[in-house]
Amino acid sequence: DADEASRRATESAVTRDGMRIRVGANITSASDAAAAAEQGAEGSGLVRTEILFGASPTRPSATIQAAAFVAIGRSLGSEPVTIRTWDVGGDKPLPFLPGPQETNPMLGVRGLRLMHQHSELFDTQLDAVCAAAEQTPVRVMFPMVTTRDEVDWALDRLAAARAKVPEVNLAVGIMVEVPAAAIQIADLAAGLDFVSIGTNDLTQYTLAADRGNAGVSELADGLDPAVLQLIRRVVDEVPDGVEVGVCGDLASRVEAVPLLVGLGAHDLSVVGPMVPRVKQAIRRTSRTTARELADRALQAGSAKAVRELLVAHRMPTG
Ligand code: PEP
Ligand code: MG
Repeated sequence: DADEASRRATESAVTRDGMRIRVGANITSASDAAAAAEQGAEGSGLVRTEILFGASPTRPSATIQAAAFVAIGRSLGSEPVTIRTWDVGGDKPLPFLPGPQETNPMLGVRGLRLMHQHSELFDTQLDAVCAAAEQTPVRVMFPMVTTRDEVDWALDRLAAARAKVPEVNLAVGIMVEVPAAAIQIADLAAGLDFVSIGTNDLTQYTLAADRGNAGVSELADGLDPAVLQLIRRVVDEVPDGVEVGVCGDLASRVEAVPLLVGLGAHDLSVVGPMVPRVKQAIRRTSRTTARELADRALQAGSAKAVRELLVAHRMPTG
């Protein structure tokens, strides 16, 4: 229950059969990080930098960005924080970076794609990430990746930034939020440390249903078996040693937690206030039953059928 969840908030989350699942918090501000730490967040699997600096009228320098990243890391007890590079465009404008006028911005020049046109902005942020990594554990993550060429481009820029600082520990990953990335994951993730599934965009693009349009919100359900099949594909085909996490909002839905564990996610990043309840849901799950649940969900005919499976699953496990 909620009491037990909050009492045990700062304990780690281990399934009944002994598998530890790391539960971090999604962060958009320094105060978020402090609050998330109180809720027991184990670092952050997603710092949305475009929101963190979204009120800045001008481009934040590398020094300012690094200080903000270090402050977040320190608030989280020096657990690793995952800095997502600028995810601008589409539904997310930045005051200091007017996006292109597009008739279809969600399918346009957003995320990493936009960084090709503003590589100096990208480089400054990578300098900040490297500077922060000298002081606190940091991971860096690229959003809206579609092709391996984009990964290679970003890795080249990162290598140039790293060359300017002493050797730092820096885990590198990509978000999987475009169906093409999930389908081509074996190639896209080769040589990386982790991938993180962004179920918000992955759902929108898989079901061709705008995540912000109430008219299609019924369709845009992360529990749709088509989305679950892509998640399973990522877990199955990701190269050995590359960690798979989920940072989209599906991970913050308590009823979906056993399913994500069953699909093979090892790392969840959720909205701060949900950390205690997500941990509690993990403690009530065993991997064996979670895997059976996932197999059944993958065979289901609709998101509604998956939701019914999850409700039925909750009863025996409490
Ligand atoms: C996602 O797409 O699932 C995600 C976590 O990123 P954002 O919601 O910031 O697009
Ligand atoms: Mg996204």
